[in-house]
Amino acid sequence: MSASTPKVDGAPPQMDDKTIAFLRRAFREHYFKHHDDVEMPTMIQNREFGYIPFGKGMIRHLSYKTSGELAADLVKQAPSSVFCSNGVYSNPTLAMDEKGWKGAELIFDIDASSIPTSCRAKHSFWACKACGKITRSLERPPQCPKCESTGLAQLHWSCAECLAATKEHVSRLIEFLTSDFGVSSAGIRIYFSGNRGYHLHVEDERFEGMEPSARAEVANYIKGTGLVRPQSSDYTPSGASSRGGWLERVAAASSGKDQPQRLEQVINAFSSRIDESVTTDIHRIFRMPGTLHGNSGLLKMRVHDLDRFMPEYDPVVLGDEEVAVSVQGSPVFSLKGRTFGPYSSEEPELPVYAAVYLMTKGLARLAD
Ligand SMILES: [Zn+2]
Ligand SMILES: [Zn+2]
Repeated sequence: MSASTPKVDGAPPQMDDKTIAFLRRAFREHYFKHHDDVEMPTMIQNREFGYIPFGKGMIRHLSYKTSGELAADLVKQAPSSVFCSNGVYSNPTLAMDEKGWKGAELIFDIDASSIPTSCRAKHSFWACKACGKITRSLERPPQCPKCESTGLAQLHWSCAECLAATKEHVSRLIEFLTSDFGVSSAGIRIYFSGNRGYHLHVEDERFEGMEPSARAEVANYIKGTGLVRPQSSDYTPSGASSRGGWLERVAAASSGKDQPQRLEQVINAFSSRIDESVTTDIHRIFRMPGTLHGNSGLLKMRVHDLDRFMPEYDPVVLGDEEVAVSVQGSPVFSLKGRTFGPYSSEEPELPVYAAVYLMTKGLARLAD
């Protein structure tokens, strides 16, 4: 049984000591003032925790006895990312197959990068690790057009269009959970991930003891993948209500015509592009709600009103005092109603939240 790690954007970016110290200070100040906003899990003693210190690799298999102990550690360590298992264990600090798994909340992950939007070509960027030159290209360019280095890192950028599309897929997922699986709305908690996506936590006892295979069936149903495979076209999820479901969606949309092409259109119109590997993984650790994202400095936060939530505004919680940064290169981005960049080898003064955004993506450092 292998330990699965949460999704982080590749290896931690190379950072100089001054930049690391600046980031730790900014994160520490946030946790000092706002540790009460960190959403502590139920059964805290039975959860596995992990964190990523700035500039270093993941530390896992930790446990805390109380929320106070965890909050104190957040202020002390000021890590770049903090994670907690959805799984509940008898012994959370032991090796994965000795932990004694007792159950896990059902969690869904929807990321902007998994939704096919027309904007993707506009913000598919590659950063040269040697000179900082930003190249726009759908495919990995063979080399940097400026310095001919082959060390290029893909930048996972987003824009208002794909962030809105991601919201739409969150709405679709909620529709499946409530209509097809009979989950009460009160049992669904929506979180912005702090980067480009959303996490949905389902509090419903029926799912907690499910093995990965059963979770995969739920995920496939929501993605509509079972429908295009003829042998399982009549599959109904366990716990689903008997009426409605995909049959009704297909019937309503195809008005009697039962062409396979039509079926695919219906699936594209109604399915939710969840990340199946996240839902089926019962040993995963997830970014904790109320903590800062280590690749953006934005808050992973609870979303109470999905329609009104503004992913480029609401999760911006770090300060706006100006700081001089040295930016190697960056595409244009918007935060808190302001537009920044594009930058190419320059030293702008930026509000702390924008400076942290670029530093945590490895695109900038504290100016000398
Ligand atoms: Zn270059
Ligand atoms: Zn976009």
